[in-house]
Amino acid sequence: RRRISARIASIKPSATLAVDAKAKELKAKGRPVIGFGAGQPDFPTPDYIVDAAAAAVRDRANHGYTAAAGLPELREAIAAKTKRDSGIELDASQVLVTNGGKQAVYSAFATLCDPGDEVLLLAPYWTTYPESIKLAGAVPVQVTADESTGYLATVEQLEAARTERTKVLLFNSPSNPTGAVYSREQVEAIGRWAYEHGIFVVTDEIYEHLVYDGVTAHSISAVVPELADTTVILNGVAKTYSMTGWRVGWMAGPTDIIKAASSYQSHLCGNVANVSQRAALAAVAGPLDAVEEMRVAFDSRRKKIVSLLSDIPGVECPTPEGAFYAYPSVKALLGKELRGVTPANTVELADLILEHAEVAVVPGEAFGTPGYFRFSYALAESDLVEGVSRVAKLLAEVH
Ligand code: PLP
Repeated sequence: RRRISARIASIKPSATLAVDAKAKELKAKGRPVIGFGAGQPDFPTPDYIVDAAAAAVRDRANHGYTAAAGLPELREAIAAKTKRDSGIELDASQVLVTNGGKQAVYSAFATLCDPGDEVLLLAPYWTTYPESIKLAGAVPVQVTADESTGYLATVEQLEAARTERTKVLLFNSPSNPTGAVYSREQVEAIGRWAYEHGIFVVTDEIYEHLVYDGVTAHSISAVVPELADTTVILNGVAKTYSMTGWRVGWMAGPTDIIKAASSYQSHLCGNVANVSQRAALAAVAGPLDAVEEMRVAFDSRRKKIVSLLSDIPGVECPTPEGAFYAYPSVKALLGKELRGVTPANTVELADLILEHAEVAVVPGEAFGTPGYFRFSYALAESDLVEGVSRVAKLLAEVH
């Protein structure tokens, strides 16, 4: 008999966390590693949120369980925030508070999918998506868009991948890892197509406020209101309020889906930490000033990193319009010699870069598209410049 179930044994460890771990190991040995791997803002959680949490922890009323679906006032605040930011009307009963956006992703597929159902997965994709789809027994069907279209998929591509088993389209704009943002017209075309074919949409909007160059992130069921009954919105406080460690996210959508997911959560983990929910309440019910400050800082780093990467021969870097990642193609550098090695893929090239330039980047294999690197620019601008300069210097040796 096997010790580990086939279902769990099939999960790949998170490649982004693996890169981070390798970089930390080298750092612990005293090597001056610069990490472009982390998917978290490098800013502290704003004081007013920390203060609300500190006050909450001292109040014994907050030491017990909450309702499994979350604090009623937090669910209300999330509904109000969804109206404010996306123009979508929700009742508090249409919101489930989860342990980070990550758990919302998993719960969405667990709730929507039966074994054999197909989920259209737009690649480059966030590394957690295929694993959570597979854990739900469903089948990820990859639809890939490359740098020639700014990593944006078309309805034609989706239609070519559609079968009678297609249950869900997973949509993520702004995207991790590419930073691509779909225009209103593109969102509308994709939304209409999904509606026409009765395909559910799971839309991950966790980077909604991190957009640049005057671009807006459009929520698909706001653009195509007919989709309201078949759309699940995923979001959370991690990126908007620099609260990655607090573990608060949510899923919002049709009442029956949220009710079913809440029953599941009541057995899985009960509720999200009471005090974290209080902190999230202060965040969600409060202003967006802090994210605007972060956005301005990220924007400056974005311009810097795109310009530095674009100067490296063999690197092609489309300008990302959202999130805090750049996703250049390095395909032209593969199969050539570098320091006595000929890397055949981006996992091997990333290893060489870590070893010889002491810079950590995440290879495209982690996002379903070998031939690319993801650079997170959630690090100090001085480190960013130093890190990319080291990469440029090393890659100049490729021949
Ligand atoms: N969705 C996307 C696209 C992400 O990049 C992340 C975090 O990296 C999440 C969801 C989930 O974030 P968390 O679980 O920290 O709320």
